[in-house]
Amino acid sequence: MKALVYPAWDTLEIREVDPPSPAPGEVIVRVAAVGICGSEVEAVASRSPRRPPPLIMGHEFCGEVEEVGPGVGEVVRGERVVSSSIISCGRCAECRTGATHLCPRREVLGMNRPGAFAERVAVPAAALHPLPERVSPLQGALVEPLANAVHVWALLGQRFPEVVVVIGCGAIGLMAIQVARAGGALTLVAADTSDARLAMAHAVGAEPVLNPARQDLQAEVRELTRGRGADVVIDAVGTAATRRAAVVAARPGGEVVWIGLHGDATEVPGRDVVLGERRITGSYAVTARDLETAIGLFAHGRIEIEPWVRPFALAEGPRVFRELLAAPPSDYAKALLLP
Ligand SMILES: [Zn+2]
Ligand SMILES: [Zn+2]
Repeated sequence: MKALVYPAWDTLEIREVDPPSPAPGEVIVRVAAVGICGSEVEAVASRSPRRPPPLIMGHEFCGEVEEVGPGVGEVVRGERVVSSSIISCGRCAECRTGATHLCPRREVLGMNRPGAFAERVAVPAAALHPLPERVSPLQGALVEPLANAVHVWALLGQRFPEVVVVIGCGAIGLMAIQVARAGGALTLVAADTSDARLAMAHAVGAEPVLNPARQDLQAEVRELTRGRGADVVIDAVGTAATRRAAVVAARPGGEVVWIGLHGDATEVPGRDVVLGERRITGSYAVTARDLETAIGLFAHGRIEIEPWVRPFALAEGPRVFRELLAAPPSDYAKALLLP
């Protein structure tokens, strides 16, 4: 089968590789569409030790079950499915209490096991979710990243936050804006240093949109909230500067969620956190419930993808990767590959 392979540092190419065969409990999914995740571009750019080559990456995908391995009862051939990106052990304390995404023995598709930048991928049947007919293959490939934004929303304590600020309008930020709208947020503020990304954020419902390269984010949010600050601020970038900006944009008692992961050490104003009881929560990956919610949001037409998603043939994968490595594109925020 054809696969987009990451054979060595700084190299991505289309190769003919042996197709996977299903281990007990696994199925083979014929991949219909697979997204290129920012974490994968970042991994290649930084030669991340979390994704060392040789590797087939790809963890955001949907497809059709083509082959069923031994011991798989409930999944049938031909079924349309999406998969969790995380394969958890099912037995540890985290798994037993529902936090499967925090399982210390977890494997991530396209990181610790071969991923979906290929015509076929092997996945444990337990990681699969059925995809309704009215969810398209392009939407199906976006279920996993949408579930990341659902996960952020599920971590919040507030039910109807009035003002939500999303910092960073890449795919996760654009999803977070739409999940916040579906989740009852009243005013959605988007911030990004790219005007092209801000136009995409506006197209999916953010108003106002702010460019911190020209505008003072904290002052603008204060102005908008009669001096209080935002109820919820989501940092979907993950640099020390954006994490700090998220904390200072939040109101007293407000909630800050960090989902981006570009840097590690981060300094935040301790007085704002302590005296203002601002809560900072980290958000990582997805649970089965987040995936089901994401499928439902697509099935009910709540998520707009046209302004920011572009499909490409799998064969174009190396070129698309090179472009993403060079600079964030101005005409889309998420590339999907169609094997
Ligand atoms: Zn991802
Ligand atoms: Zn576990």
